[in-house]
Amino acid sequence: AKSAGKGCYRFWQSEYLTDVTPERMRLESELREGIENGELELHYQPKVEAETGQHCGLEALVRWQHPKLGLLYPDQFISIAEETNLIIELDRWVIRAVAHQQAEWRSAGFELLPVSINVSATHASRHELVVLFAEILAAYPYLANYIEIELTETAIMANPDQATLSLNSLLEMGVKSSVDDFGSGYTSLGYLKKLNANTLKIDRSFINGITTDFYDRDVAKAIIALANSMSMEVVAEGIETKAQWDLLREFGCQYLQGFYFSRPLTVACMTHILKHRLEEAPMLS
Ligand code: C2E
Ligand code: MG
Ligand code: MG
Ligand code: MG
Repeated sequence: AKSAGKGCYRFWQSEYLTDVTPERMRLESELREGIENGELELHYQPKVEAETGQHCGLEALVRWQHPKLGLLYPDQFISIAEETNLIIELDRWVIRAVAHQQAEWRSAGFELLPVSINVSATHASRHELVVLFAEILAAYPYLANYIEIELTETAIMANPDQATLSLNSLLEMGVKSSVDDFGSGYTSLGYLKKLNANTLKIDRSFINGITTDFYDRDVAKAIIALANSMSMEVVAEGIETKAQWDLLREFGCQYLQGFYFSRPLTVACMTHILKHRLEEAPMLS
């Protein structure tokens, strides 16, 4: 990269320009409208128990059905939303949408699975997050056990004192939390204890190499040991092969998530699965 000299500069310059292009600004205002017009949708990716492969939870992942560009993924619009307060609107939409979806599944008679929601760094460091959850739980008290949040390590460390306050307030309401992408950032272990998070999610980048790379394997093992020693649960994300599943089970990782088990699914698919689940194992109560 050093020898690229001039080229690097041009690259930097063009990257800088994309930040302020009319295109990016247009996307921002379109997103603002899109949220109001109902263009966002949630897909749900199951989490499974490592021992059995049985579904034990879901993660809500936002997508944007753009009228002209088609289906957009978070990487294509979350950073735009994060540059402005729009991310607050987006997060609010997601949290409400999950609550409504759970209420709908519940009234259809399905046994609910806990759904975890990704919350942005901006939101994590504001008291509004706690207020919003308090509103949601006042409307749907039974959801305390069925809504959880995921905060990335980076988001937590952007404002660790406020994140600690938020997570502890949520916990008092019965809402559990996970530290997402763990291992990719720099969480101080002192904070990790104070956060009182329920779960560590091992970053996908380590899972990738777990069957081939000693370093990745040792990091995954170390995170599992750390979680155990702090009485936290541990989820490995990004499982794509049976070999990765086998190895993580051997290491004592309790929960897994990844394309090997399921891709993120549309509401229609997820509803079908929840219905089928009910038929296979009818509730006794
Ligand atoms: P994340 O929370 O770490 O979510 C996991 C991402 O990895 C998802 O990408 C998921 O589709 C993908 N993934 C899951 N299993 C596998 C696998 O086996 N292999 C590979 N290659 N990928 C896998 P997605 O949906 O594109 O989301 C990307 C990120 O965007 C999320 O990372 C999260 O940080 C953020 N995000 C997603 N939904 C929301 C949301 O509703 N609000 C906010 N604020 N952020 C969100
Ligand atoms: Mg996540
Ligand atoms: Mg993650
Ligand atoms: Mg991620």
